[in-house]
Amino acid sequence: MKLKDPSLLRSKAYINGEWVDAVDGRVFGVHNPANGKLIIEVADLNADAVTHAIDAAVPAQKSWAATPAKTRAMILRRWHDLVIENTDDLAIILTTEMGKPLAESKGEIAYGASFIDWFGEEARRVCGDVMESPQVDKRLLTFKQPIGVFGAITPWNFPIAMIARKVAPGLAAGCACVLKPAEQTPLSALALAELATRAGIPPGVMNIVTGIDAPAIGKALCADDRIRKMTFTGSTEVGRILMRQSASTVKKMSLELGGNAPLLVFNDANLDVAIEGAMLSKYRNAGQTCVCANRIFVQDGIYDEFAKRLAEKSAAINVGDGLDDGVDQGPLIDQQGYKKVLAHVDDAISKGAKVLTGGKSHKMGGTFFEPTVLTDMDSSMKMFREETFGPVAGIFRFTDEEEAIKAANDTEFGLAAYLFTENTSRLFRVSEALEYGIVAVNTGIFSSEVGPFGGVKNSGLGREGSKYGIDEFLEIKFVCIGI
Ligand code: NAP
Repeated sequence: MKLKDPSLLRSKAYINGEWVDAVDGRVFGVHNPANGKLIIEVADLNADAVTHAIDAAVPAQKSWAATPAKTRAMILRRWHDLVIENTDDLAIILTTEMGKPLAESKGEIAYGASFIDWFGEEARRVCGDVMESPQVDKRLLTFKQPIGVFGAITPWNFPIAMIARKVAPGLAAGCACVLKPAEQTPLSALALAELATRAGIPPGVMNIVTGIDAPAIGKALCADDRIRKMTFTGSTEVGRILMRQSASTVKKMSLELGGNAPLLVFNDANLDVAIEGAMLSKYRNAGQTCVCANRIFVQDGIYDEFAKRLAEKSAAINVGDGLDDGVDQGPLIDQQGYKKVLAHVDDAISKGAKVLTGGKSHKMGGTFFEPTVLTDMDSSMKMFREETFGPVAGIFRFTDEEEAIKAANDTEFGLAAYLFTENTSRLFRVSEALEYGIVAVNTGIFSSEVGPFGGVKNSGLGREGSKYGIDEFLEIKFVCIGI
């Protein structure tokens, strides 16, 4: 890996401001999904290390919380600046361990940095209230105080942004964290920690526990009473485990879980805008985002034209190693992900779906998959119920608005939905009827630090980003003063 600053490539865990090995010296390999080659071996920590990290985080959090918000904001701003200054190196690290094209990695880094910047600003605007008292001899106030030390567990698909979206609001609020990154992508997390240290985030405030025994690390975080909040992004299945494990210590939870996003295109849509939106929503990160369109519902009148044009555009996607110039789509993260995508495509074809383009492993081999467009999809197929997490656009046909809304809502998930129409009444009607935390209208990309991100139903709890994001890391204390 050719980095301008090789010291950003770290292989030890980061606890209490120090780079540490596992006590027993264990390591695990991090591999490049584009070619399967070992990049580096990283410290494989266990549950005991989680306890050490919490031991460090508890006193560190107290002094961090006592640091003026203005100082915390300045440190976060420095961290943001360092992330931006080191974009090229961070992008190489991210692409090498995760596979997405360099341009997408750079986009993710800018997106991740925007949360650090935003929440640094928000740190200075945490305000309690003074309320009108119902009694003449009382005065009523609220303080907003940091919740304490929080545990964070993040996925591989956005190895920088998912960390920034959790750690930045937490640190801005005056909390400290113990974070476990995904096993496939620890290097981005460690590089972020290196830059956080350079920015002046004190020892113990941000701890990174790398390791492959996720169940044991997760359990240790959940079981410890000193962890007052868990924030998690990943599958619904693991989110449920963490919620169960946190019940005995009654922790506050933020869960960003799986999705099964519908994308609705009505006859009255601007077709160019809808195709563009579907391409962006479907193929970003090779379809491996929780908000990627998973089910594309297109109304009768434009179904054939939409499918034909989407297939033409999909066939033109340049698949390859994310480090190479001009590549639009990298490999899938691993064999498990690849097999799931293949199984969903095979299942759909066996039940009557037609392949307009793609439909199989890409000639690059490994976990590369062809951008795929399937028509004649129906609700008996796996793709209707489960998140595919791959570059497969399955197109379902509908006749009227009611039918489309019913199908879109017919899922346990409720993260993001997309809607394409030029009819203002329909825009409001359908946006209100969709049981989702996010509705994107006439666009395939909606995410920024300013809008609240999060789901309903089995897609999770809480919101990240926006003016609401910092509240997840604050407790409201009511102070009643007799005078
Ligand atoms: P995952 O298997 O749930 O893994 C996510 C994280 O949880 C990883 O760090 C993983 O560690 C850890 N983990 C696994 N089992 C655990 C356990 N028993 N206890 C504690 N931690 C555990 O999810 P994934 O397949 O990596 O990520 C894809 C999923 O994330 C998709 O469902 C996607 O929709 C969702 N996602 C949601 C959002 C959102 O904002 N809603 C954003 C991105 C992704 P290891 O890596 O070591 O196994």
